[in-house]
Amino acid sequence: MKSTHSHNSTITVLTILILLFIGACVYTYLTLTSLSTRLDSLTVNLNTVSSNLASTTSRLEVAIANTNANLSSALGVQQQSVSNIQMQLGSVQSQVGSVSGTVNTLQKLAKTDPELLKKYSKVYFLSDNYIPARLSIIPDAYQYSSKKQMLLHSDTLPFMQSMVDAAAASGIKIYAQSAYRSFAEQRALKDDYTITYGAGTANSFAADQGYSEHQLGTTVDFIAPGLGGDLDGFDKTTAYTWMVANAYKYGFILSYPKGNPNFVYEPWHWRFVGVKLATTLHNQGLTFYDLDQRTIDGYLVSIFDPN
Ligand SMILES: [Zn+2]
Repeated sequence: MKSTHSHNSTITVLTILILLFIGACVYTYLTLTSLSTRLDSLTVNLNTVSSNLASTTSRLEVAIANTNANLSSALGVQQQSVSNIQMQLGSVQSQVGSVSGTVNTLQKLAKTDPELLKKYSKVYFLSDNYIPARLSIIPDAYQYSSKKQMLLHSDTLPFMQSMVDAAAASGIKIYAQSAYRSFAEQRALKDDYTITYGAGTANSFAADQGYSEHQLGTTVDFIAPGLGGDLDGFDKTTAYTWMVANAYKYGFILSYPKGNPNFVYEPWHWRFVGVKLATTLHNQGLTFYDLDQRTIDGYLVSIFDPN
């Protein structure tokens, strides 16, 4: 009996131990399951946080990049504006410069009589009303005869005096024999020549009224001593030779040179066209009537320039 009792006690202890073990296992399992669940939950939280962080970081990066881009673009725009303003200023300055240059040229042109560089032809002639704006008396020392008072365009007179003075300095005497002639004077002169020489010969001495460059006041017939007061033969004098070589420096040109296709040769008849145009014609071996009117008009603004 004792052994049976002992055997029963042992079974009871074992059963208790087994039950305890099972209980421990169940507890452990439950605890582990709970931990694992919490871990899963924590992992999910961590993932969410890190995903949020990544998203926030990337949004921040985008925002920073945008801000940088905006700033640099704004700066670029500012710099562009500044350089645009500088360019506009430069352009305005250059426009102001060119406008004031144009204004000067226009003012100069407005004061310059376009008739002074006109070519006379069948289609272009001066009206009987045309009188130069300003005429001055040629001082006696420059006139061949002091019996009549000769007039010359006031701005042309100093050029003629300089020329005659320069010739005199070289020992060559040149005098004005005729200068400004009004429309009426030209007509009277023409009539006079016609009566004396006949119409054909008169045409070779004097242009019809309205076609005479003398009406401009810028044209002079020159004469030299030793010709008995005649214009004819002027081309045989040293005065003529000197003028052919030097008159252009003072703005004078021979209007009707020998062999020109349009007009009778007049070696004594010199027209003031300005130093610039006279020099061009001299250097290129051309006459005033070789150039077209448009080319000639380009010289109008400089007609009274000293060089
Ligand atoms: Zn003449």
